[in-house]
Amino acid sequence: MALLQISEPGKSQDPHEKRYYIGIDLGTTNSLVAVIKNGSPSILKEDTNNGLLPSIVTYAGDDVFVGDNKKNNESITFRSIKRFLGKNLEDLKKENFYSPCEYLEENNVLRFKVFEKLVTPVEISSEILKHLKNITNETLKGEIAGCVITVPAYFDDTQRQATKDAASLSGLKVLRLLNEPTAAAIAYGLQSKKISKVMVYDLGGGTFDVSILNLNDGIFKVLSTGGNSSLGGDDFDSLLADYIEKTNGLNLDEQNKHNLYLYAKEIKKNLSDSESIKYNLSKIGLNNQDIILTQKEFNLIIKSLVKKTLKISESVLRDANLTIEGIDEIILVGGSTRTPYVKNMVEDFFNKKPLSNINPDNVVAIGASIQADILSGDSNEELLLLDVIPLSLGIETMGDLVEVIIPRNSTIPTSSSKEYTTFKDGQNAMSIHVVQGERDLASDCRSLAKFTVKDIPPMLAGSARINLEFQIDADGILNVSARETSTNKVTEVEVKPTFGISDSEIEQMLKDSFDNAKEDILNRNLNESIVEGERVILSINSALNIDGKDLLNNVEYDEICHARDKLEKSLESEDRETIIGAIKNLENISETYISRRMNSSIQKIMKGKEIKEYN
Ligand code: ADP
Ligand code: MG
Repeated sequence: MALLQISEPGKSQDPHEKRYYIGIDLGTTNSLVAVIKNGSPSILKEDTNNGLLPSIVTYAGDDVFVGDNKKNNESITFRSIKRFLGKNLEDLKKENFYSPCEYLEENNVLRFKVFEKLVTPVEISSEILKHLKNITNETLKGEIAGCVITVPAYFDDTQRQATKDAASLSGLKVLRLLNEPTAAAIAYGLQSKKISKVMVYDLGGGTFDVSILNLNDGIFKVLSTGGNSSLGGDDFDSLLADYIEKTNGLNLDEQNKHNLYLYAKEIKKNLSDSESIKYNLSKIGLNNQDIILTQKEFNLIIKSLVKKTLKISESVLRDANLTIEGIDEIILVGGSTRTPYVKNMVEDFFNKKPLSNINPDNVVAIGASIQADILSGDSNEELLLLDVIPLSLGIETMGDLVEVIIPRNSTIPTSSSKEYTTFKDGQNAMSIHVVQGERDLASDCRSLAKFTVKDIPPMLAGSARINLEFQIDADGILNVSARETSTNKVTEVEVKPTFGISDSEIEQMLKDSFDNAKEDILNRNLNESIVEGERVILSINSALNIDGKDLLNNVEYDEICHARDKLEKSLESEDRETIIGAIKNLENISETYISRRMNSSIQKIMKGKEIKEYN
């Protein structure tokens, strides 16, 4: 399990060298790195910028530059590379993507033709991470022992894997990937407050994301997410540039249009701090007579875009089955929420003052640094963030049917196993097809991996036992292993698909499954829930045996045992709903316990101890 890979046994720490655990916000428009110094978070800055590193990578000959203003005639510049992570050409074509150079797809991976070389989005992203690593090394003396990198809550398995790959390429050790909205909530210390529903409104440069989190006993779950992947502050800039062009009766060429766009960005930012601003058009070679632009005028220009974000927020609220009154806190994230009109509109719409006292550019990186500090074991705080998997994982069984092994919205990390047998006498191999999705037919789901279990000893049909185990680590990445029980031979695959599921596809897949819910219910059988119930009982029993008495007080211990006994009883009820209810109940009651187990194990690992029970 990935948890164990965090420690490096035998590699002892030089007592003079400080080890740092950093938090990274790898953004579409800007990226930044933060660290906890003397107990409080700080953003690491280069001399040349305010801590925000534009997520722009420029290739010029053999040189690679990260940040802005490195362009020349020969160079190739990549912006918003995050949009490409974990996607194949088919996914991207649906999104109208822009490439600064020729590209091709090889082994299902998109590659850009950068001069003589082929470069993947993962490699380009790793350049940004390398740069952040250099900033860290220059600012702090010591070793970077590990990092937490944030990702959008809707990132699927492939996009998360791609982010981790980029980190490995840059030489960073990832302790954990963390959802961006969760990071924001941690930055505000919400985990230790008595609140439950948090809405995170994140308006960046080119993307809008809104998420609703449920907070329960220090555990965050993403209840729903939504957004628009082509709506952000850059659109404010274009609208403002158009407005200036029109109101001044200009007709600009391409180059001056671009200059005006950059100027509009500057005007917009300045307008965030004052009621009105004077500008002149000398920057685009016109007269330098001052023109006044007021916030009021600007608000009208961006009004429809801001309204759009509120509409989306409303629908995300509906998805979570909540009303405005049900939200305890709203957090503003992203540079574009610095625009006063955005802040005010959100406040008016939700009739609640959003949290915005932490710089919205920094809030995600700060949360990541706090989480990194906690995972390092250096801090006294106990906190674990459980996330959920967005789509169910399962395998194809006879007749194109899907057997779900880990259901959607399961908190991670998690593992689950099932036993399968041969259906022919003497059958010596079995092929396994891993799929992700909510539909009953494998062909309607996303295919993640195929592999074959070989060398099954010849036996009568139905006598071989193949134990198939799915493990999802804390980053949401899946490992599958199959063990033939008579020989104990293990076939293992890290499911590492090279293509991604796009948001809209996830959406579509979820929608399809709701549309087909009736059929789906008919297809599920009672047996499945009994098997699941037994599995849950087994795993809770084995956990309680290991550390139940250490991590729980008597009341908590008894509560869990009581819920387990209830589940045991429900297995005889022959009623699927009763069993599922009892499983849910036990899972809910054990949530805090599981989180304590995870924390104590990570802390032990970070201190270099081995924990056998997690093997
Ligand atoms: P991302 O998460 O997509 O990387 P950021 O959160 O860094 O993006 O937000 C970048 C956006 O914030 C840009 O469109 C930028 O113009 C805008 N922005 C930055 N500072 C301000 C400001 N003071 N007022 C309004 N918008 C701002
Ligand atoms: Mg961001």
